[in-house]
Amino acid sequence: MDTQMLIGSIFEKGTETEEPILNPKTGATILNLPEASQAQIEAAIIAAEKAFVLWSRTTPAQRSGYLLKIADRIEAEAREFATLEALNCGKPINAVLNDEIPAIVDCYRFFAGAVRSMPGVVAGEYLPGHTSMVRRDPIGIVASIAPWNYPLMMMAWKLAPAIAGGNTVVFKPSEQTPLTALKLARILADILPAGVVNVVLGRGESVGNTLINHPKVNMISITGDVATGKKVLQAAAKSVKRTHLELGGKAPVIVFDDADLGAVVNGLRAFGYYNAGQDCTAACRIYAGKKIYDKLVADLSSAVSTIKYNQPDDTENEIGPLISRRQRDRVSSFVERASELKHIEITTGGKPGEGTGFYYQPTVVAGALQEDEIVRREVFGPVVSITRFTEVDEAVNWANDSDYGLASSVWTRDISRAMATAARLQYGCTWINTHFMLTNEMPHGGLKQSGYGKDMSLYALEDYTAVRHVMVAHT
Ligand code: NAD
Repeated sequence: MDTQMLIGSIFEKGTETEEPILNPKTGATILNLPEASQAQIEAAIIAAEKAFVLWSRTTPAQRSGYLLKIADRIEAEAREFATLEALNCGKPINAVLNDEIPAIVDCYRFFAGAVRSMPGVVAGEYLPGHTSMVRRDPIGIVASIAPWNYPLMMMAWKLAPAIAGGNTVVFKPSEQTPLTALKLARILADILPAGVVNVVLGRGESVGNTLINHPKVNMISITGDVATGKKVLQAAAKSVKRTHLELGGKAPVIVFDDADLGAVVNGLRAFGYYNAGQDCTAACRIYAGKKIYDKLVADLSSAVSTIKYNQPDDTENEIGPLISRRQRDRVSSFVERASELKHIEITTGGKPGEGTGFYYQPTVVAGALQEDEIVRREVFGPVVSITRFTEVDEAVNWANDSDYGLASSVWTRDISRAMATAARLQYGCTWINTHFMLTNEMPHGGLKQSGYGKDMSLYALEDYTAVRHVMVAHT
């Protein structure tokens, strides 16, 4: 197992406090990893600064070639990556192998293509006697900070557009899930010039805090909690750094009375609970029309009670445990508080799972009201609430009545109603008769406190490059 950080071309261990890396399926410690010292973080930033001089002058075709090689290596070592990710996050290995790795490989390949054909305003004589052109140039050194829910995928979403755009990166994985980042660091060191990507380990309040406050860092890209995003903004304000914030979510799902009930139940069973609900787009906040409500509660509860987890044969598992005991206890306390309310019924689940792993039963909370905590706050666990609505306006107003604005969905057989409702939702993404589906060509990112800046798509490449105007006066 790779345990060393990548600083320039050098692999070395951190020299500070050790962080235990746990197996969430058992609670056992896999290994302890020390975090980077201030001197090591400084060295990583200097390496990124040095590398920027040449990397920022490479051609799109050259950078594209590097990205394609990274994609090929991840694909070739898919099983090793999946095994490691499954160990560190508790995910079923097939979910990583069949869902995540192909999307990760495709992310590097997408940006390899995208950087060679960036669109923009055409050059021309917009003032007589002067030719103008627009350039998109790299921003500089990007501090990239990732969460624990999809470690290798978040790394792809951050690294691929950043290096495609000609930037250099100091990357910090979550202190809870660094293992696949350390493995990828070995591959990156084989392929990329030294210093283009550096990987440092450590906690947010120490290593993360140093990165976001460092005067040489030109841009901070972070996926994490809203509270962390606010700290990033405060740090960025000091030297006016660019920021790219992918923060939390609490996705509303509006189910109209005419929706295909079977499709809704299948969709919610899959997309409300995928990755044990540790997903910022999870279909977790259902608003159901008054006629479909009772049947939806009954059918969904029965479907959710069949979700397989904690089976000795991992190929049978549909979801894994939560990432940590703390996260499991947090989820548990949300459900406990909800269940104390008279109007609420826990129709399936509602308890931590058996054993020493950090499991929580897939749970349906029926009868929830708009003002309930379970409807308003991000639970980030396998818990879905259902609220009954009577009028379209009520559903749309409740859906929009949230601090978050990342993802949403509308379920109906009436395409006009679907389009009219989608147009009124204040979310970075609205799915119609599906949920959760992402593709590298399309942007992913939020509104409101879910943050701003897009991952994936040409929009991400725009975020990681600076628009510049160059004008030539004709003699
Ligand atoms: P977190 O905010 O605790 O940590 C995220 C990362 O930020 C970690 O690497 C952490 O070490 C670092 N960090 C924490 N405090 C920091 C500080 N003061 N300075 C610098 N870095 C700091 O979040 P988490 O618990 O790892 O992840 C779960 C959260 O991420 C959820 O709220 C979830 O909704 C969100 N998320 C959002 C998206 C999205 O695309 N919008 C995707 C995945 C996860």
